[in-house]
Amino acid sequence: MKIFKFGGASIKDALGVKNIAHILHQEGASNCLLVISAMGKMTNAFENIVNSYVNNDQEKLTESIDFTINYHTKIISDLFQDEHEIHQNITILFGEMIHFLAKNIAKEYDYLYDQIVCYGELLSTTIVSEYLTDIGVTNTWKDVRKLVITDAVYRDATLNWLETEQLIKTQIDSSKLTIVQGFIGGHSNGNTTTLGREGSDYTAGIFAYCLDAKNVTIWKDVLGVLNADPREFKETQLLNHISYEETIEMAFYGASVIHPKTIKPIQNKQIPLYVRSFNDLNSPGTKVSSGITIDPIVPCFIVKKNQVLISISTRDFSFMVEDNISDIFKLLHTYQLRVNLIQNSAISFSVCVDNRFNHFDQFYDEIKLVFKASFIKGVDLYTVRHFTNNSLNKIHNLGRSILSQINKNTAQIIIQKK
Ligand code: ADP
Ligand code: ASP
Ligand code: MG
Repeated sequence: MKIFKFGGASIKDALGVKNIAHILHQEGASNCLLVISAMGKMTNAFENIVNSYVNNDQEKLTESIDFTINYHTKIISDLFQDEHEIHQNITILFGEMIHFLAKNIAKEYDYLYDQIVCYGELLSTTIVSEYLTDIGVTNTWKDVRKLVITDAVYRDATLNWLETEQLIKTQIDSSKLTIVQGFIGGHSNGNTTTLGREGSDYTAGIFAYCLDAKNVTIWKDVLGVLNADPREFKETQLLNHISYEETIEMAFYGASVIHPKTIKPIQNKQIPLYVRSFNDLNSPGTKVSSGITIDPIVPCFIVKKNQVLISISTRDFSFMVEDNISDIFKLLHTYQLRVNLIQNSAISFSVCVDNRFNHFDQFYDEIKLVFKASFIKGVDLYTVRHFTNNSLNKIHNLGRSILSQINKNTAQIIIQKK
C-alpha cells in the first residue's frame, strides 16, 4: 500500500483538486491512502474564526465565517453541477460548526481551536472524495477522528499508538482507495484534537507505520527537499537523497518542508519517503531512506524567523548550574516556549525560543522574579548543516550576528536584521 499526502498548496483551488485525480491516474489509485490537509491557507482562516469568537467580535466573526464559506463554495461551483449533493454536504458541515459556536459555553482556547479548525480538513476531504467519486474513481472517506486517537492536550495532542494502530489496521482496507484528514485526531471523550500546525505529514507517517506501507509520498509545490527554503534564498539545489537521520535533523532545526514527527515512525519500519512535485510528475523528487546521509553534499540553510533571544543570569552571582537551569526549563515548559538554541556560561544562560503560543510575556514576568533577565524580540535563527566558510559568510551578511554556536556538522547564528 502507498500513502499520498496532499498539503494545502496542492488543493488551493479547483485545478488542484483535478490534479489529484490526474496524479492518481498516473500513479495508480488502488492500494492507496490519501492524507489531505485543509485547502490553501484555510487553517489560518479557521484560526481567525476562533479568534473573533473568543474576542466576542461579532462583526469579524461573521466576516471570517463568510470568508471560509465563500472560499469553499467557489471551489465546489468550479468542480460540480449546481444540483450536486456536495452543496448540501458542505452546508451541513458549516451548519454543524456554526451550531457548535452558538451552543458552546466552554472558554478554553485550545479546546475551541481544535473543535473549529478541524473543519478545514473535514471540508477538503469531503470535496476531494466527492469529486473523485463524481469522475468514477471509487473511494472511501473516513473520519480520522475515530482512527487517530490522542490524549486531550488540545492543539498539541500526543498519539495513543496502541489504540490507533489497532483501529487503523482493522478499519482500513489496504486494497482500496481511502481518504482521511491530516492534522486532526480524536480523544475517546468524543472531542476533536489536533497534532500541531503542519501536522498532516505526521498523519501520513502514522498511517504508513500502522499499515506497513510500501512507501509515502508528500506532494509539494517544490521539486523535493531543497538545500534551503526557496522563499528565503535565491539559489537552491534539489537534494536527491537524504537519510532519515538527516531529515530529522533538518526538520528539527525548522526546515518547514516536512513535519519533524513524521520521520520516526517510518524510519522504524524502514518505509521510504518521497517528496515530489505535484506540478511535475516526471521529476523523481527527493528520496528519504536509510543509507547515504545527503546527496549532493551541500550546505543546507534553515531559518526560524521571529524568535526571542532571552539572556538570564543569577542575581547573587551563583553559578548557572543544574538547579538554576532546571528552574528555567520548568518555566519554559510551563509557558510552552519551544527552545531552539541554548548557550550557557558560568553565570549566564541564553536561550532562543519560539513564542508560538504568545506566552512569552507571562514567562518573562515570572522569570524576572528570580533571575536577572533581558530579551530581544524579532530575531532570526539561521542553521547551516554541512556548513562551509562561504555559506557562513552569506548568513553573517544578512544582519548583525548576535550569537553563534558551531559544532561538527551544524552552525547556528542568531541574526538581528538591520
Ligand atoms: P503544504 O501545503 O504541502 O503543507 P507548505 O507550504 O507547508 O506545503 O510547504 C511547502 C513549502 O515549504 C515550499 O513551497 C517551500 O517554500 C517551503 N520550504 C521550506 N524549506 C524547504 C526546503 N528545505 N525544501 C523545499 N521547500 C522548503
Ligand atoms: N492544515 C494544517 C495546517 O495548515 C495541517 C497541515 O497542513 O499539515 O497547519
Ligand atoms: Mg504545510
